[in-house]
Parts: sequence; C-alpha cells; structure tokens
Amino acid sequence: MMTFEGLGIDARLIQATTELGYINPTAIQEQAIPILLSGTNDFIGLAQTGTGKTAAFGLPLLHIIDATAKYPQALVVCPTRELCMQIVKEVELFKKYMTGVSVVAVYGGASIGLQIRDLKRGVQIIVATPGRLIDLIERKAINLEQIKYVVLDEADEMLNMGFQDDIEFILKNTPQRDSTWLFSATMPAEIKKVSKRYMKDPKEVTVGKVNMANKSIDHQYYVTTAHHRYETLKRIIDFNPGIYGIIFTRTKLDAQEISERLTREGYDIDALHGDLTQGQRDKVMGQFREKSLQLLIATDVAARGIDVQGITHVINFELPDDVEIYTHRSGRTGRAGNHGICVSIVHAKEAYKLKQIERINNSQFHKLDIPSGKDVCRKQFFHFMDKLLSTDISHGDYETYVPMLAEKFADISKEEILKRVAAMEFDRFLKYYENSEDLNIRERDRTIKREPNADRNDRSRSRDADRGDSRKEYKGGGGYSRLFVNLGTKDGFFKASFLQFVLDMSDLKKEVLGKIDMKDMNSWIEIDKGSAQQMIRALDGKKYKGRSIRMNDADSGGRR
Ligand code: AMP
Repeated sequence: MMTFEGLGIDARLIQATTELGYINPTAIQEQAIPILLSGTNDFIGLAQTGTGKTAAFGLPLLHIIDATAKYPQALVVCPTRELCMQIVKEVELFKKYMTGVSVVAVYGGASIGLQIRDLKRGVQIIVATPGRLIDLIERKAINLEQIKYVVLDEADEMLNMGFQDDIEFILKNTPQRDSTWLFSATMPAEIKKVSKRYMKDPKEVTVGKVNMANKSIDHQYYVTTAHHRYETLKRIIDFNPGIYGIIFTRTKLDAQEISERLTREGYDIDALHGDLTQGQRDKVMGQFREKSLQLLIATDVAARGIDVQGITHVINFELPDDVEIYTHRSGRTGRAGNHGICVSIVHAKEAYKLKQIERINNSQFHKLDIPSGKDVCRKQFFHFMDKLLSTDISHGDYETYVPMLAEKFADISKEEILKRVAAMEFDRFLKYYENSEDLNIRERDRTIKREPNADRNDRSRSRDADRGDSRKEYKGGGGYSRLFVNLGTKDGFFKASFLQFVLDMSDLKKEVLGKIDMKDMNSWIEIDKGSAQQMIRALDGKKYKGRSIRMNDADSGGRR
C-alpha cells in the first residue's frame, strides 16, 4: 500500500499527518499529490467531499511554498465561510512542524479590518470565499500579484451559487499563476468552460465515478402523502434515537416553520437559512458542531460547504428537483469512509425523480415502510435499555446512597421499578403514538385508486371539451355528488389544508372538486360523480389523529 513517504511529501508534514492518524493516503491523495508537487501542472480532481481532498491539495501546497518569502503565494478559493475555516484548521494542523508558514482565512460576515491586519502580517497561503476576496482586491488590501498556485475547492458548488464571474475575476487577477488546481464533486458544463479558458492541459483525476454518490451512503426513501410529510419526518427522527442529522427543505419558510414546530414538541433542532445574521448563523453552527443540537434544518444555499463530522442522517423533507443538489445534500453524511444514511420523504408521484437520481448517481434507493407508532416506541425502548445498561456508575459516590435507596424501594418489585423508570422516560412517546395512524401509502390503496382514475381521465377529457373547461358552466350541469365527512375545523383544518388532505389521500386532482362546506365537526364536499367512490374508498375507515374517518354520499342516505 502507498505511504505518504512514498509520495515524496516533506517529513515534517508526514510527522503531522501521522499524529492525525493518517496512515495511508486516500485515493485522491495518492493520485493528486505526485502531480501537484511539481507545482507547474494544472489539475482537475473530481472527488466527493469526504474523500480527503483538503489534504490532497493542502499537503502539496505546504510542501512547495517558500516559507522564507513573506508574501502570498497560494490562494485557495472555496464556496463558504464554514469550508474556509475548515480548510484553514486542517492546514494549521498539517503545518504544525513547519516554521515560518502562515495561513489566513478571509470570508464574509467577519471584520474586514481584522482580516486586513492578518494579511499584512505576511502570509503565504490565503483561504478565501469569492465575495470577500473580491472586496479585498477592490480595496487593494490584498496583493495577488505573486500568487503562484490557485486552488478552486468545491468548484461546482461555487458555480451553483453564482460565483462564476467572481472566479473568472480572481483567475484574471492572479497573473503569475503557475498552476491552477480545481476540485469538484461533479463536472458540469460550466466547469469545463472555466478549465478550457483558464487552465493549460490539466491533468484530470477521478476518484470513484463522476456524479456518483458516495458508496458508504445508504439511500432510503419513504412514500407518503404531502399532508403526512411532517408526521413522517417525526417518525423517522423518533425511530432513530441516536440521530445526528441535517434536514433539508426547499424554502426558508419551511425550514423556519418545521424547526419551530419540532422545537415546541421537544426536539433539539434549529434552522439555518439565508435570513440569519452571520452571528446567528455562527451560533447555530457552533451548537450543532458541539452536538448540543441534535438536528439542523437548512435550505440548500444556507447549508453549502457545511462540513460536520459524524452526521448519521441527511433527511430530504422533499426531494430536490436537481440531481446535483441531491448529491450535495447526501454528501454531508457518510464522510471519510463512515457509514451514512440519506433519507427522502417522497410523494407517490415522485418515483420518476428517484429513478433519475439512481441513474445519474449510479446508486440505489431502498424503499422502507414508515415505522408504525409501535415500532417507534419499541425502538425507543431498546435504546433506553441500552443507555440504562451502559450508564457509567463507576465515578459517582453511589455506594453511599445504596442503603437509602434499598430502604426506599424495599416494598417495590424490580419489575415495578423498571416500569416506573420506563414511564418517566416514555410517557410522551406512548401517549403520542397510542393511536397513531399508518402513514404509508399502500400498494393496495394505489391499485384500487388507479382504475377509476384512468377511467375518469377519459371521461373528463371529453367533458372538459364539452364545457370549454369552465367550472361554472359545468357545476350547473349537475354532475356532482355531495360527500359527507366527519372531519371539520375542530380537527385543525382550514379549507386549504382540508382540500390538500382529501386530495392527497385520494390521489385525485383538485379539478374534480366543487364547493366545500366546512363546519366544526363535519364537512360536505362536492365532487365530480365519477370520482366520488374513489374518494370514499380512500378516506372512509382510515384514521386521522387516532379517530376513524367516516365518509359517505350525503345524497344517498348519508348524513347532512
Ligand atoms: P475532506 O474530504 O478533505 O473533507 O476529508 C474528510 C476527512 O478525512 C477529514 O476529517 C480528514 O481529516 C480525513 N482524512 C483525510 N485524509 C485522510 C487519510 N489519509 N487518512 C485518514 N483520514 C483522512
């Protein structure tokens, strides 16, 4: 097996990496380091996050810069402040035994004055985010004249974030560049364009397959209705008591609302989104890193560049439209060879998206049943028992209290003590999940639904043609049934959420519905006659918040 010595790295760097526990180079390190050590080759490294690419460029940079010359020689550009700090932290560790080498991080949201002061101290390596770097260039507070090596890290993310012009500006402002090293998880057309324009005959190294998701990630999905997404999310969290994860949402409003709702329900979670000030963002990230937050909920943009070790789960509250975004999200887990799980909550109609991701990422999804309330309670119970059994009692002065405890519990059996302890811990779960409903969309439900749906489509097409697609005209035609249902505003529904609920449950389109009349306890729904039975079959007898739903045709003997 290849060693760092074998790659020709400076002994002082090897000493530091050995202390960090790096025994053998990773695949990207093994292939990139010999090329990069020359200092004259342009380079493209296609590697996912978590493959050890920071060391793949960090070690050669430290090896080839001139520690005696006190001016900037290397520039690393990366998409986010978090990544920037992470890179500097690693480079600091690598250079532990090298004297006279200085590295500085410049990124937005922090005092530019302090960064200018740091730069003036005579640094050799600058790690920067594009925005702040350009700010410094324009203020003439940074001198890139003598930069010899430019590293573009997570180049695809930078382009995704709209930094294309900034990157070109930076490349144009480094006239003495001997080599450009570009690292990216994917190879979109924009990267090819940048490399064509600014790089000379780059040597390309690919680790794994381009666009291929990390093999150590298990891609799982759960199918439910849009209406049950939140409940499903809670089940997933509750079913994984040791979870340390990031939940992704499409919008900051979702991130904010879900975070608030979960916080109210007792979960350790906070949101990361674009509306936060840098101070708030740092606070959230700090708490998440030190694990005082178990969960982080974030939008894609806000989460870019986040590199936190030990993430057990990435949860897609909704699937992203873009396969690349899925890759970036899932790449937050399963890092450095650890196992990770990427869970997606999907709607039955999104199966095609899963296929697309599977095809492009060359990965495979596993469909899982949404755990029942019982499953969740059982899992929590086992987790608790393990915690109880593995609690360290060697350090406390517990012996002193044993006689007192023994006396207090003298008349209570061991079973009863266990029950009480369990009740203290599980009351919340047991009560919550007592009458919980099945959140899965069953194949059985779907086959029942499919036939009348297809049937309806044919009829509705000719009907739509007849009525010129005008609702009002059609309503007068008397083609509606009125359905009674024992759900109303007391169940927490507003008209819009109720509409969404019945449509999700029945897999019907909103065009089939007419007027909806909601009362406290009951509602009446006008529905296209051809779809009435499908809706009744989908809802009647199902559970909502533990209560059985009753639905029937109000005009054929049903309640009014
Ligand atoms: P990166 O892809 O640079 O974010 O690295 C992912 C993780 O792998 C970091 O925590 C590194 O400290 C770790 N790492 C990098 N190179 C090695 C190596 N050769 N052996 C063991 N761990 C490594």
